[in-house]
Amino acid sequence: MTLTLKKQGIIYIVATPIGNLGDVSVRAIETLQSVDKIACEDTRHSQRLLQHFAIKKPLIALHEQNEREMAIKLLEGVEQGESLALISDAGTPLISDPGYTLVRLAHQRGVRVIPIPGPSALIAALSASGLASRFIFEGFLSPKAIARQKHLETLAKERRTVVFFEAPHRIIETLQSMVQIFGETREAVIARELTKTFETIRLGTLSELLNATQSDPNQVRGEFVILVSGFTEEKINSGEALTPEAEHTLKILLSELSLKQATSLAAKITGQSRHLLYETAIQWKAE
Ligand code: SAM
Repeated sequence: MTLTLKKQGIIYIVATPIGNLGDVSVRAIETLQSVDKIACEDTRHSQRLLQHFAIKKPLIALHEQNEREMAIKLLEGVEQGESLALISDAGTPLISDPGYTLVRLAHQRGVRVIPIPGPSALIAALSASGLASRFIFEGFLSPKAIARQKHLETLAKERRTVVFFEAPHRIIETLQSMVQIFGETREAVIARELTKTFETIRLGTLSELLNATQSDPNQVRGEFVILVSGFTEEKINSGEALTPEAEHTLKILLSELSLKQATSLAAKITGQSRHLLYETAIQWKAE
């Protein structure tokens, strides 16, 4: 009796364009042409991309709702020798996109995972931002105001560039929260509609960017990456410093009230900058 061992397949994580189809790599196309199956978020959306490149392959939907169950099914196929590509609606899979469970399970089961690198809004935005390239990526903030503010508070003293994804219907309120927590003068960049016809990349202070976005309805359309420059000591120490009396007042108020209420009241009592009081309070919290 001869025993035939079937060779295990491979999973390719393939980046696709974030707008301009010319950004697809030769290797991405070759990979998509060569695999047995392609897993994607939305089969109708990805069908259009594949049609453009004349690629005909079975598409399987893998999204948040079915990820674990579908990942196991797909892995069984790969273990039987099938090769599989994973794509997302746009950009690099797993970067705020599905695929995490599939890739984790693949590693656990000893299945080879090969990345086919390419476009990502995150790196495209960072590369054109003019902000320091040591960065942290936070993905999407919560749609809930309190959770969003709490999240931003934890980042107030982050020294690296902080990168966020944001949706058009939340861009204004997110910028408002950022002004409130990082301060009006913190430098930031909004990278909008990257690689597309109406691409805009603006560098300015958070309050300038908020005003510019609020005053032009076109700037509220499309897809956004927000990059906020890291915290530096000079930003807090430039200009005004807190008097010992103001620090004392702030400490008392912080022991009784929320951060926002305490800094706002302290500003009224002491006449010192609310922003400076806020940043000082955040600094104390982090110590
Ligand atoms: N995996 C994708 C990547 O690597 O770019 C990101 C997917 S995430 C679900 C979608 C978010 O990415 C959008 O809401 C937006 O914040 C950002 N994004 C995607 N394409 C963009 C573009 N062309 N310009 C600006 N931001 C973009």
